[in-house]
Amino acid sequence: MTAARVDGAAVGGAGSGHGLGAARAVCARLLAAYGPQHWWPAESRFEIIVGAVLIQRTSWRNAEQALARLRAAGALALAPMAALDREALAGLVRPAGFYRQKAARLGAISAWLVAQGGCEGLDGLDDAALRAAWLAQPGIGPETADAIALYAYDRPVFVVDAYARRLLARLGLAAGDEPYETLRAALESALDAGSDYYNEFHALIVAHGKARCGVRPRCDGCVLAGDCAHARAPR
Ligand code: SF4
Repeated sequence: MTAARVDGAAVGGAGSGHGLGAARAVCARLLAAYGPQHWWPAESRFEIIVGAVLIQRTSWRNAEQALARLRAAGALALAPMAALDREALAGLVRPAGFYRQKAARLGAISAWLVAQGGCEGLDGLDDAALRAAWLAQPGIGPETADAIALYAYDRPVFVVDAYARRLLARLGLAAGDEPYETLRAALESALDAGSDYYNEFHALIVAHGKARCGVRPRCDGCVLAGDCAHARAPR
C-alpha cells in the first residue's frame, strides 16, 4: 500500500494515488448504496445539541430513549432543561448511561446557552470561535463540538468519529490513529466541501458502519470492496 504523510501521520492512498481526495468517490458510492440519510434526526437545534451529549459513550438507541423521556417530561427545550433540578435531569437521561455526568453537562450547557441568549446567540461567531466556545464547555471534546457545529450550526466540518477512522483506515486512506485535528484538517483540505456535503457524508459513514463496516466487517457484497485495502489483504 502506498501511503503519503500529512503532518507526520500516515494519510494515504491504498494505491489510488489520490490520497484523501479519494474519499469523494467513497461518499458517492455510499450515497448510491444507502441514499440520503436526512440527518440529524431532531426537531430542534437544542435537541441536536442534547443528542450530541447523550450519544457520548453509548449507542444511538440508548440516547434515543433518554431523548424520548426528556420530550415526554417537557424538558427537551432550553428553558425547561435549564430550570430542571439536576437530580430530576439525571433520572430522565438515565437510559443513556453515565447519567449523572451527562446531566451535569447538560445542566451546565443549558445555563450557558441561556446566558448566550439561546442557541441562536452563537450564530454570529465564525467557525473557529464557535468551535472554541463549544470546546470550552464541560465534557465537550472535538468530536462532540464538531457534531454540534455541523448539525446544529450548519458549519462545514468533517466529524472524525470512530466509524470514520475505522473506514478510512480499512480503505487505506488514513492510518486511523492520527490525532483528531490532523485527520480532520487533512480531510477538510482534501474535500473542500460545504456543510451539506459533510452532513451527508458523515451520516453515510455511520450508516455503512452499522450495516457493514463495524468492528467485524462484512465485506462480501460491500460497495467499497473493490477499492478497499482491508478486503484485498491476504487472510
Ligand atoms: S470491504 Fe469490508 S472493510 Fe472495506 S469498507 Fe467494505 S465492509 Fe469495510
